[in-house]
Amino acid sequence: MAAPNTLPNDLWQMDHDHALHPWTNFGPFEKQGSLVIARGEGCYLWDQGGQRYLDAVGGMWCTNIGLGRKEMAQAIADQAETLAFANYFVDMTNGPAARLAAKLAELAPGDLNRVFFTTGGSTAVDTAVRMVSYYHHARGNPEKTGIVARENSYHGSTYLTQSVGKRNGDRVEEFRYKEDGIWHLTCPNPYRRPAHMTEAQFCDDLVAEFEALIARVGADRIGGFIAEPIQASGGIIIPPEGYLRRMWQVCQRHDILFIADEVVTAFGRIGHWFASLSEFGVQPDIITSAKGLTSGYLPLGAMIFSDRIWDVMAEGGQRWFTSGLTYSGHPVSCAAALKNIEIIEREGLLAHAASVGSYFEDRMAPLADLPLVGNVRGKKLMLCVESVADKHTKALLPDEANESKRISDVAEGMGLLVRPIGHLNVMSPPLILTEPQVDFIAETLEKAIRRVTDDLVREGFR
Ligand code: PMP
Repeated sequence: MAAPNTLPNDLWQMDHDHALHPWTNFGPFEKQGSLVIARGEGCYLWDQGGQRYLDAVGGMWCTNIGLGRKEMAQAIADQAETLAFANYFVDMTNGPAARLAAKLAELAPGDLNRVFFTTGGSTAVDTAVRMVSYYHHARGNPEKTGIVARENSYHGSTYLTQSVGKRNGDRVEEFRYKEDGIWHLTCPNPYRRPAHMTEAQFCDDLVAEFEALIARVGADRIGGFIAEPIQASGGIIIPPEGYLRRMWQVCQRHDILFIADEVVTAFGRIGHWFASLSEFGVQPDIITSAKGLTSGYLPLGAMIFSDRIWDVMAEGGQRWFTSGLTYSGHPVSCAAALKNIEIIEREGLLAHAASVGSYFEDRMAPLADLPLVGNVRGKKLMLCVESVADKHTKALLPDEANESKRISDVAEGMGLLVRPIGHLNVMSPPLILTEPQVDFIAETLEKAIRRVTDDLVREGFR
C-alpha cells in the first residue's frame, strides 16, 4: 500500500518494482518504467511533474465525454452512498441497472431489447460467444457452435476472446489459444488488398471466402460471425463499401448470428450511438459494448441481444443461463453510464463528434504526403497514420526501426499522446475535442513524424 505523503518519484519506483502492466514488453519496461499520470480534465492529462498532454488516445478509446466532470463524480458519489452494491444474480436488481437496461434497449437498433451486464469489453464478448452455442443448442442444433472471426481483429483478453481475436504479432507461444471451432477470414483492409484488385473485387473475394468456408465446414457447425464494424486496434480498418452488409446477408442465409463488437465504435466515436446500422446498414443479433458506455469513469460492459434470441432462450421457462459476474449490474457503474448517456444527449455530442471528426479527417489527410507515411485512414474520431519504408510497394520498415514508438515518444515530449501499435500511430480522442485541438494534433504529429524520419535517414533505415 502507498505510504502517506508519497513523493512523486516514489510512485514511479513502486510501479516499476511491483506492477505488471497489460500488454507490456518486459525489456523496455525494466529500463523506462511508466509515465505517472496525476490528473485529467477534458481532453488533457497532467503528469506528476505538472507537464500537460493532449490525450489523443482518449485513455484507451474510452474517455468520450472527457475527464474531470463534476456531475459524473457527483452521480457516482451519490449512488455509492445510496447503494454501492447489491446482489444482481437470479432475481434481484437495482434502480440504475434496470434503468440502464431499458435505456440501452431504446438506443440499440431494431429488436435488440435485452441486456446482459459485464465488467468490460472482454467479458461482454466472451459471453456473446457462449451465447451463440446456447442459442443454437436451444433450437436443437448442438453442433452449431463454431465462430468465424477475421485476421487482425481484437475482441478482448480472456482466454476465449483472445482466441477469437487474432491481431498480427499478438500470439506468443507461451500462451495456448483455443483453435477448434474458430476460423479467421482475411482482414478486409483495402490499403493492403492484392495490388491487382479493385476495392470492389477485393470485397467480392472476401465474401466468397466466407461462403467457401461455410461450404467446407458446414453451416450446421458455424453458429456465429463476429466483427468490429471498424477494426480498431488491428489498425482502424474500414472495410470495403458494402462488405459488412454482404457478410451479414451471408449470415442470415445460413442462420449464423452476427455479433457486432462495438466496444470501440459505440457511444459516439464515429458520431452514432451504435455504428452497425447507422453507418453500415447491418442489423446485428448481438452488440457488445463497453468503454464509451461510461466514458471510462467506471468499468462496465454490456452484451445487448435480440428479442429473437431471448424468446428462444426463455422458451419452456425452465432453462438456466449459467454465466454471470459478481459485478454484473453494478449499481455505481450503471449510474455512471446513465449520467454519461445523459451528458452525451444534453450536449449533442454525437453531432459534435461527427462534425469535429470530419475536420479531424481533413486535417490529418495531408500527412499522407510525408515521405514516411503510407496511409492515413479512419473515420471521424478514429484515425491512424501508417508508416512505410516505401510508399509505392507499401513495404514496412524493419521492426528495429521502431518508428511508431519513436514518433509517439517525440510527440509526448511536445505534449501530445498518440498510441503506437505496430507500424501505426493511432488516435481516438474524446468527443468533446475542439477544432483548435485538432490543429494542435495535426501540427504536432507532423513535426514528430518529420523528426523521426530525419533520424531514420541518419541511421540508414531509409
Ligand atoms: N473488443 C474490442 C473491439 C476492443 O477494442 C476491446 C478493448 N480494446 C475489447 C473488445 C476488450 O475490452 P476490455 O479491454 O474492456 O475487456
